[in-house]
Amino acid sequence: MQLVDTHAHLYSRKFDPDRTGMVQRAIAAGVSRMYLPNIDAESIEGMLALEAEFPAHCFAMMGLHPCSVQPDTYETELALVEKWLGQRTWAGVGETGIDLYWDKTTLGIQQIAFARQCAWAKDLNLPIIIHSREANREAIEVVRQAQDGRLRGIFHCFSGTLEEAKEMIDLGFVLGVGGTLTYPKSELPAVLREIPLEHIVLETDAPYLPPVPHRGKRNESAFIRHTAEALSEAKVLPLAEIARTTTANALRMFGE
Ligand SMILES: [Zn+2]
Repeated sequence: MQLVDTHAHLYSRKFDPDRTGMVQRAIAAGVSRMYLPNIDAESIEGMLALEAEFPAHCFAMMGLHPCSVQPDTYETELALVEKWLGQRTWAGVGETGIDLYWDKTTLGIQQIAFARQCAWAKDLNLPIIIHSREANREAIEVVRQAQDGRLRGIFHCFSGTLEEAKEMIDLGFVLGVGGTLTYPKSELPAVLREIPLEHIVLETDAPYLPPVPHRGKRNESAFIRHTAEALSEAKVLPLAEIARTTTANALRMFGE
């Protein structure tokens, strides 16, 4: 069984003690590809080092995370992202988006940074990876403004209503589904039941959001299997079909 982890911060310091072994465990568990979203200037070096260590399995993306959009530094950060985007090929642009959970005061500059990254994704014909936390309305609005038929991507760690999910899909996006699907009070299973599997990809967001039965611990890419199993239950489809279709969806999004 082959699975793709479309969103994992495997360069995180939390993996310093066993990073190589952790990626090898994931590969042994059938996770053929792991896509690494960038955070900001601080995360680039570690991300590129991991990609260099596992060039057939780990794929770097370039962008600026909404929580790293700060008034005094975001223009410098965006200039660095733009420079890197021009210097080599990437699997995608991100992660970008809007986060109103941690800080509402930066909404204006988060929207500016997000819109600019949408423009780059279109120009480079790359998928864009969207983080939307307590901000689905605002994030959908930025995408709607930017969408001219060229924008595609993933609403990562999707959380929202069926109506929001349908809006995202109508805008040409797929839903990234991670460990929160396994949480007892999650409303995700009911929403995803109504969404065709063609619009869903799997992710871990490691080291964050570990699925049951690993809650409270560090998440890693090998644990994506628990999320695949939860999706199999939610959609009443065989696990093999979940793996086959979500993997095909990811490869279609990122390119083979
Ligand atoms: Zn992330």
